[in-house]
Amino acid sequence: TRSIQSFVRPGFADAAPYNATHHDFAWRRRELARMMSNECPIPPSPAVLRAVADAMAVGHLYPYSGQDLRAAVAAHCGAPVESVVLGNGSTEILDVLTRVLTGPGDETIIPTPTYAFFETQSRLCGSTPVFVPLTEAWELDVDAVLRAITPRTKIIFLCSPNNPTGKGWTVEQVERLAATGIPVIIDQAYLECGYGQSFAHLVADHPNLVTTRTMSKGFGLAALRVGYAIADPWLADVVERVRIPFSVSLMAIWGCLAAFAEPDELERRRRHISGEADRLYKGLQAMDGVTAYPSEGNFVLADISGTGREVLPVVDAVLSQRILIRAMSAHRLRGSHLRVTVGTEEQNDRFLDILPAILGTGS
Ligand code: PMP
Repeated sequence: TRSIQSFVRPGFADAAPYNATHHDFAWRRRELARMMSNECPIPPSPAVLRAVADAMAVGHLYPYSGQDLRAAVAAHCGAPVESVVLGNGSTEILDVLTRVLTGPGDETIIPTPTYAFFETQSRLCGSTPVFVPLTEAWELDVDAVLRAITPRTKIIFLCSPNNPTGKGWTVEQVERLAATGIPVIIDQAYLECGYGQSFAHLVADHPNLVTTRTMSKGFGLAALRVGYAIADPWLADVVERVRIPFSVSLMAIWGCLAAFAEPDELERRRRHISGEADRLYKGLQAMDGVTAYPSEGNFVLADISGTGREVLPVVDAVLSQRILIRAMSAHRLRGSHLRVTVGTEEQNDRFLDILPAILGTGS
């Protein structure tokens, strides 16, 4: 008889797990300041908590398709409701889009460093990721992306603001890529963390352009698992039919509706994140041997190679002082990079306070 292994299709058996161990570790060690996974440090508002509880009170019933949430998303993004598709986090949308658009023999173009999921999902679909480095200043190299296009290219992935480098791209850059006619997926997960450029309005003129966003970052609702795409209505409908039924729970629908009904709460989070990201950037940049990068997201990237220190022992030393941050060594970065997520004011103070001694640059 054949082994079970021999039945599993190529590419699946050795699929890389998505950071599961990091998240499990953070949940086991609740005393840690969680500055590793780009979560929002402000918990949900009382209105959102009430809405989630109201939904759970009818938790014996299946949810509905969330047309009201779709409408709220459309209003938030300034897009027509037919172009909105909801998902279980933007991750579900990115997964469906990758499966719908690519397969074995195809290529996806991924400007790096960026969100690792683009590579993971491309490989799962059997398509080959083609990496195009950002410039030294972490700018998108549009000419290099254009040169990387082949007849096999099925997706150009962009992330704006880009995780982990922090910068967002421009309308002109996006339009140059959209003009190729190749599907361009722009992950705007961090848009609500700052005051950067949305590309949702470009979708009407470019049916090959899709932008994705999430309730996980600026809205601070990562546990609810809601994301969405703004896409050409025809493509949005395809995604809607391919995705798993009921992947957006009733708690998620009502919780998000409550969040959209409180624009002041979003603004409060946005102001906190944006101001603190700037403070972390300036604090890091002022340290000897550290090069930090300004960020429109809720995280700041810093190159510590100028201190002569390796990043892993530094992250461990920070952890021993009960702050969890991310070493970026595995993300196609030159040098020695760490990424720190915006925490509460106190957490950010403490991080900036302990780091110089750990880096051995004095305080
Ligand atoms: N896109 C980017 C760039 C991210 O960094 C993340 C989360 N780390 C996601 C998408 C996933 O977000 P969601 O919670 O919406 O699935």
